Amino acid sequence: MMQLTIQLIPTGEIILSPGKNGENCCHSCHNKVVSTDGVRAMMESALTARDRVGVQDFVLLENFTSEAAFIENLRKRFKENLIYTYIGSVLVSVNPYKELEIYTKNHMERYRGVNFYEVSPHIYAVADNSYRSMRSERKDQCILISGESGAGKTEASKKILQYYAVTCPASEQVQTVKDRLLQSNPVLEAFGNAKTLRNDNSSRFGKYMDIQFDFKGAPVGGHIINYLLEKSRVVHQNHGERNFHIFYQLIEGGEEDLLRRLGLERNPQQYQYLVKGNCPKVSSINDRSDWKVVRKALSVIGFNEDDVEELLNIIASVLHLGNVQYGGEEGNACITSDTQIKYLARLLGVNGAVLTEALTHKKIIAKGEELMSPLNLEQASSARDALSKAVYGRTFTWLVNKINTSLTYKEDSYKNFSVIGLLDIYGFEVFQHNSFEQFCINYCNEKLQQLFIELTLKSEQEEYEAEGITWEPVQYFNNKIICDLVEEKFKGIISILDEECLRPGDASDITFLEKLEDIVGGHPHFVTHKLADAKTRKVMGRDEFRLQHYAGEVNYNVNGFLDKNNDLLFRNLKEVMCMSENKILTQCFDREELSDKKRPDTAATQFKASLAKLMEILMSKEPSYVRCIKPNDSKQAGRFDEVLIRHQVKYLGLMENLRVRRAGFAYRRRYEVFLQRYKSLCPDTWPNWQGKLSEGVAVLVKHLGYKPEEYKLGRSKIFIRFPKTLFATEDALETR
Ligand code: ADP
Ligand code: MG
Repeated sequence: MMQLTIQLIPTGEIILSPGKNGENCCHSCHNKVVSTDGVRAMMESALTARDRVGVQDFVLLENFTSEAAFIENLRKRFKENLIYTYIGSVLVSVNPYKELEIYTKNHMERYRGVNFYEVSPHIYAVADNSYRSMRSERKDQCILISGESGAGKTEASKKILQYYAVTCPASEQVQTVKDRLLQSNPVLEAFGNAKTLRNDNSSRFGKYMDIQFDFKGAPVGGHIINYLLEKSRVVHQNHGERNFHIFYQLIEGGEEDLLRRLGLERNPQQYQYLVKGNCPKVSSINDRSDWKVVRKALSVIGFNEDDVEELLNIIASVLHLGNVQYGGEEGNACITSDTQIKYLARLLGVNGAVLTEALTHKKIIAKGEELMSPLNLEQASSARDALSKAVYGRTFTWLVNKINTSLTYKEDSYKNFSVIGLLDIYGFEVFQHNSFEQFCINYCNEKLQQLFIELTLKSEQEEYEAEGITWEPVQYFNNKIICDLVEEKFKGIISILDEECLRPGDASDITFLEKLEDIVGGHPHFVTHKLADAKTRKVMGRDEFRLQHYAGEVNYNVNGFLDKNNDLLFRNLKEVMCMSENKILTQCFDREELSDKKRPDTAATQFKASLAKLMEILMSKEPSYVRCIKPNDSKQAGRFDEVLIRHQVKYLGLMENLRVRRAGFAYRRRYEVFLQRYKSLCPDTWPNWQGKLSEGVAVLVKHLGYKPEEYKLGRSKIFIRFPKTLFATEDALETR
């Protein structure tokens, strides 16, 4: 007897096919089996399955405007360990917080070269689809992954990378690139990830990575751009959180003689920069074995022993800097013990006396003369912390550049490559207390939303045009008005902030807030305590402003905005670093910076510029989207916290996503696929239609009684407006 497999595919359709060892088979087999009695029973159970597991594409939800129906569908699927669901071509992913057997080599093979709609939703389908589009259309692709911390963005990007590493053709040279691409991850994670309350392995920077493919489709190189590392973590961690992994890895895993040379003790509690969160150990992390992984990865990437030594000298120096303690009389800071200074002088290759002076004084230039003005205790501590942050932040950027050098494929013949970009970047952040960092992150998300709108609507429009179907404009909220509010020259929030940062005299976070009220107070997406109505005022502090983002409102507390935006490092500390003999630091601190009279750009302005560049990069590519959702706050498998999920559905803009997608046609399929599937429902098309495919489909849908407003026929595809039309046809197949 023939073995049958039932497969539900993304549209909620059912494929019945002779099984190959339980594997899914192709579409075309299904007519061979559809009319037998046994099949009907199986069909019925498959339909019940549709009830049980929900629809695999939200576009097919009857009640597509209902958030409750959306979440119910997610819940059904999550319960069945079906963590992936589409909204058209957007993949929604819910973090399972457990290992699922869906990432095997067999799975990769199953998705390789197969049409998006013929297999169940999967991150591999997105990866494969981008790869095939890149190959067949010769167009660069990008995959944008978003979601809040802990939602599974970084895991998703790793899975995509692994998919390419396994399925793409390779030669020996290419193998090296693949290894380096894969090994760049543990290195970047060691230096850029940390344990937070939300995620034990939280990326504290945004990352865009290009994977370059040659004309044979083999990965031959890569390039990484990093965004906004959370440098403040170097000097401070909230309770229950840690500093960047590398510090603990070094202390736990470093060899005895290495630690001796670096002057480190094997105890994180000894270091001021590691004790703030009171959380030296994390049960899910093994710092010692991670150390080995990172050391090996560094050598795969092409770091030689000298590079590694210089790098670790810097990491150890940051720990020593954190232990520099100040005392002093009459308010003038002085360093109470010179143990740290000795290590710093040696590890960084700087003069200890000059460093000591720079850590306790500020150079002032008055009337052409240089004066050293003593710092008070508070100023000295913050100068020290500023140095630690600058050293760590710049070393991180150096690390990324170094990785990029190693990912650059040298052969000229490969200059002509195609690209798939992966963006793994922080999603919308809304906390109890939101500061400068959340402001930048949410601004970034506004920009990405704008890109999404432009590209999605553009591609819908292009498809309709290509198919010769009249374009019907889709109503949507264009968030450009919010982007402008933040970034517009002279009158945007960033400009106003920069102006306050440059203004000598009494500029403060509060004067910044007042300026905002003056200049953008009338903006429909901006409000402060003073300007708010009575109801809003109740939920706002006097030192906050509120932005009405596309996804919802967020209150930002202005405390620290000026300092964080200035990101100042005293000139004499810069000078010391420029004189360092550490080869990495000489690349990080350029002497030109000292001669240059112009102030360096502020943090927000730099971020704005890097986002503008990112938008340019992404605009030139064909995008795919992965939207990640975190099911609960306790990192538990199987727990579906509805309140939390509803919040993310809102801030990811998924309902809007679905609405835009449904505003056009819910379903579209190439003529041959449609005909093949439903031809048995019409005597004129069964068993085979001999004429033009489009005419065959026209005959078929007429026979099925489709009303003119329910569908449109394009050049190569049929477009169906409502899912119920399609479901009725599916049911017709079943009850025939
Ligand atoms: P994000 O980058 O969005 O902050 P991560 O990708 O680091 O989140 O995921 C957080 C944690 O969730 C991971 O360390 C892992 O334990 C778990 N996780 C995420 N995605 C998956 C998945 N597809 N399968 C199993 N576990 C996952
Ligand atoms: Mg991450």
